[in-house]
Parts: sequence; C-alpha cells; structure tokens
Amino acid sequence: MAELQLGRKSGRKPGVITACRHTHLKHFAKGMCNHCYHRYGRKSLATECKHSDRKMYSKGKCQNCYINEYNKVKRQGKKQAQEDELNR
Ligand SMILES: [Zn+2]
Ligand SMILES: [Zn+2]
Repeated sequence: MAELQLGRKSGRKPGVITACRHTHLKHFAKGMCNHCYHRYGRKSLATECKHSDRKMYSKGKCQNCYINEYNKVKRQGKKQAQEDELNR
C-alpha cells in the first residue's frame, strides 16, 4: 500500500535543468541554463528607454535600444567616455 507512494519524491532534484533544452549545461536558475534564464527567465521590462512595454534586454533597455546604444558608444569611442566623466 504505502509502497506506491515511494517513487514520487525521488524524481526531481534541485539544480537540474528542466525548463530548457540545455540539460547538458550547468543549472543557473528556475530550471534553466544561464543563457535561457537571461533570455526567457526574467520578466523585467525596459525602464531606461521609452519602450517600457518591451522586455529588458540589458542595462534596463530593450534589445533595440541597447544595441543602438552599444553601436553608438562604439562609434563615438572616446567622446562618450568624456561625457560620462562630466556627468558624474
Ligand atoms: Zn538553456
Ligand atoms: Zn527601447
């Protein structure tokens, strides 16, 4: 009778990837690998750009704005760094 319930507890171990396909990678959080967690696991929305309805990609910005910003900084190079210094 009681034996029927024995198998149920041993199925799930904490720290094992169950929510994404990368079961060979190291568990990061919420059953996902590092990559998938950062892509799908976080529900935060962008706060640092006007697209507050979009998902935050990095540094509070949506993917679009973050990449635009990244390209801009890359192009401006030194000039941007100087402006950052002044704004402090
Ligand atoms: Zn994954
Ligand atoms: Zn944006």
